[in-house]
Amino acid sequence: MTVAPQPNDLRPVIEADRRHVWHHMLQHKPLETGDPRIIVEGKGLKVWDAAGREYIDALSGGVWTVNVGYGRTSIADAVRDQLVRMNYFAQSAGSIPAARFAEKLLEKMPGLSRVYFNNSGSEANEKVFKMVRQIAHRHHGGGKWKILYRERDYHGTTIATLAAGGQPERAAMYGPYPDGFVMVPHCLEYRRQWDDGSYGERAADAIEEVILREGPETVGLLCLEPITAGGGVIVPPAGYWERVQEICARYEILLHIDEVVCGLGRTGTWFGYQNFGIRPDFVTMAKGVASGYAAISCTVTTEAVFERFKDGADPMAHFRDISTFGGCAGGPAAALETMRIIEDEGLLDNCLAMGARLRANLEALKEKHAVIGDVRGMGLFQGAELVKDRATREPVDEPSIARVVAETAARGVMIGASNRSVPGLNNVLCLAPALVASAAEIDAITAAMDGALSAVFP
Ligand code: PLP
Repeated sequence: MTVAPQPNDLRPVIEADRRHVWHHMLQHKPLETGDPRIIVEGKGLKVWDAAGREYIDALSGGVWTVNVGYGRTSIADAVRDQLVRMNYFAQSAGSIPAARFAEKLLEKMPGLSRVYFNNSGSEANEKVFKMVRQIAHRHHGGGKWKILYRERDYHGTTIATLAAGGQPERAAMYGPYPDGFVMVPHCLEYRRQWDDGSYGERAADAIEEVILREGPETVGLLCLEPITAGGGVIVPPAGYWERVQEICARYEILLHIDEVVCGLGRTGTWFGYQNFGIRPDFVTMAKGVASGYAAISCTVTTEAVFERFKDGADPMAHFRDISTFGGCAGGPAAALETMRIIEDEGLLDNCLAMGARLRANLEALKEKHAVIGDVRGMGLFQGAELVKDRATREPVDEPSIARVVAETAARGVMIGASNRSVPGLNNVLCLAPALVASAAEIDAITAAMDGALSAVFP
């Protein structure tokens, strides 16, 4: 760790940022008078900003990404060695790290056998949609072309993935959208829509109702997050996944699990779906795959799906898709080293142990602060839903959530909030520290939240 930078050294950089950089998801108006946040260094869970302030980052790079923590020189070395040897060749040819990483990854994913490399989560998901559409054209005579997605889930920022997004505010003003994307209801029991029977089974049955309404012969794919992330940290309830799997089998609908957030260890298993005994036809992953040390995403599928694109007699049979930087050799090199670190350092076990500690601490905060209505999550992926009144479950307003995040940051800890995409329900504090978190760091995170909650809701 070098010494944290002195604020004055970076004044020109801050000014250059203010003048020229267009930040993601940010309203720039306040930056006309205030400074942009620039993060200059990281080690483990800690980051330092351009003003020299130190934070514990409890959201792994702000968007559940840096799973193995900051400052990993072995990943940087793996990328460097690969780039010096062979930086790039189009993925119509292979590379040594891509083949090695695909083999290692698939050891952890029984039932799946093919990896298609891309750059981002959105792109990985969109590739599934293209594969499904091509299967529809070539194998179903144009049927089974519709794609089902769930209310409150998010699958990306491109036009097609926004069409498959269950968060209306994200999609507003970027339409018109392509046809054939159909929403199914959310499965958050805390805000249950039905009172009859087991909620998990009822929520899955609601998917079947949509399939029957649309016509099963038109539906090709069901795309779901294993645990909804930015939409409010929603763990599907007991009974849900078994019924979802049955429904997909009954109507021959391919099941796509979007592991962009859960992928590579976040819930204490390699993948979120492995907590629920699901057998997916497609799994997509991005953020944690190389822990933010390189841009890489993967679309993983079965041999049965792959076989549908093999037909030497038909020049249109193969997957006619390309992504210039997909599989760019530094990505799989970083991903391979990320997997080695997770295994050699026992990070899945640490995730379970520290996840249990984080959960217990959050439950204790719930005892103390009436504003916490619900705590939920798995492993080091937890959320706390804030309500004005536990009886009515009326959500707190967005400015209050923003104040809790700001007050926690003022106490040296960066946490997140559910995104502004579920109107009126952007009231969940989100936590996803790196899998290397220590007990002391977990306690420091919840201590800062405790102070912040007391300050905002005295
Ligand atoms: N899927 C999920 C569940 C996500 O949370 C995200 C991003 O937040 C994406 C897909 C899109 O990934 P990317 O931003 O890499 O395109």
